[in-house]
Amino acid sequence: MAREFLSVGGAFFAFMESDGLESMRNPAHMNRPWDRASVRTLRKRLLAWYRRHGRALPWRTDPSPYRVWIAEVMLQQTRVRTVLPYYERFLRRFPNVEALADSSESDVLEMWAGLGYYRRARSLRRAARKIMADSGGRFPCTLEEIARLPGVGRYTAGAIHSIAFDRPAPVVDGNVRRVISRARGIARAPEKFYWSEARAWLARRRPADFNQALMELGALVCTPSRPQCMTCPLRHLCRSASEIGKPAPKTHSKRVTELVELAILILQCDGSLVLERQTATSFIPGTWGLPVSLMRKSANPLTTAKRAAHSILDATPEFIRAGAVRHTITHRQILGHLVLAEIPPPRPPIKDKERYSWKNRTDGVRKLTSSFFLKAMGKSRGKGTKGQVTFGIPAMRAIRVM
Ligand code: SF4
Repeated sequence: MAREFLSVGGAFFAFMESDGLESMRNPAHMNRPWDRASVRTLRKRLLAWYRRHGRALPWRTDPSPYRVWIAEVMLQQTRVRTVLPYYERFLRRFPNVEALADSSESDVLEMWAGLGYYRRARSLRRAARKIMADSGGRFPCTLEEIARLPGVGRYTAGAIHSIAFDRPAPVVDGNVRRVISRARGIARAPEKFYWSEARAWLARRRPADFNQALMELGALVCTPSRPQCMTCPLRHLCRSASEIGKPAPKTHSKRVTELVELAILILQCDGSLVLERQTATSFIPGTWGLPVSLMRKSANPLTTAKRAAHSILDATPEFIRAGAVRHTITHRQILGHLVLAEIPPPRPPIKDKERYSWKNRTDGVRKLTSSFFLKAMGKSRGKGTKGQVTFGIPAMRAIRVM
C-alpha cells in the first residue's frame, strides 16, 4: 500500500493505492488456463514482434542494474515520454550508486522536480545508501535482496531482476494486466490471478525480452481505448480479438476520481511573495510552496483566501481571481483557484515566521520544486499596482519542469 501526502494549508491528504481484490466477472475463463502449446506460441510471437517493434529506450540499450532501477522507479505512475528527459539528466548528475548515495536529499529532489511522487526520489537515495553500506556499491542480484531496497515493490523487483539480470521473474503492471485481461477474455480478476498468469506465460530462456515485450505490447498495441487487434501478434490466441465484430473488452479502472478544490494564495508586495515551508509530513518536506487552503463544497475562493490570509499576515488583503490550475495525483483531481492580493508597501509582518516567509519574487519562484506550484505560477495572471501584467513565470522554467 503506497501513500503520498500533500500539505494543504495544514491539512494532509493520504493518497492511497490499494491492491484490493476485485470481483470476478467471468471465472469460467480463469479456470481454463491456456494449454502449453498456446503458451509456447504466445512466447514465440511476442518475442518476434518485440524484436521488430520494441523501442530502443536508453535503459534497454544499456540494461545495467543501476540504469534499469532508476528507469523502473521513474516509470512508476509516469509515461515513458515524460520520463526520458529526466532520466538522461538524472544519470548525468548521478551516474552510479556511489554518486547517488553521496548526494544530499535536496540535490536529488532538484533533479526530480516536476516528475511528481517525490517519495520515489527520497527512496532512491536511501536505497543507494543501503547498497553502499551493505555491499560497497555492488547492486544486489537476487530477487529477495532487490525487494528489500527502499521503494522497491513486487513489480519493480521483478522488473529489475528480469531485465537487468535476465532471470525469470514475472512482472505485472497496468499494461500487462490489460493484455492478460483481454487475451484471456476477462474483465476483472483478483491481483493474484494476473501474477500467476504472468508467471505461466514467462519465457524461461529470455525473460528480460519477454517481460519487456509484454509491457511494450500493452503500451503500443493493446492500448486502453484503441487496441490494434489487426496488427497484434496475439490476435489468433486472444479471446477478445476472436469475437469478430466486437471491440476488445474495456479494462476497469480501479479508482474513482475525486475532486479536491483549493484556494492558492499569491500574496505579493513590493516585488516579494509569501511562501510556505513544507513540513515533515508534507508533499515535499523542506521545500517551499505557495500557501493553500482547502475549500469546502461550493465555497467562494476569495472568501476562503481571505480567511487563510488572516492567519498568515498581520493585514487584511483584498484578493482578485487570477486563474485556475488542474493537477492529478493518483485518484485525486485537484482544482486550484488562484487568488491574488497585490498589497501596497510596506510589507505587512508575517504571523508564523517558522512556516511562512516573504521572498524576493524571482528567488521565490526558483524555490518552488513541486510541478503543482510551478504550474500554478505559470497559469496565474493579474495586474500589478501600475496596471501592467505581472504574473506568469518565465516560459523556460515552466517548460523545464512539465
Ligand atoms: S488481439 Fe487485441 S485485445 Fe487481444 S491482446 Fe491483441 S490488441 Fe489486445
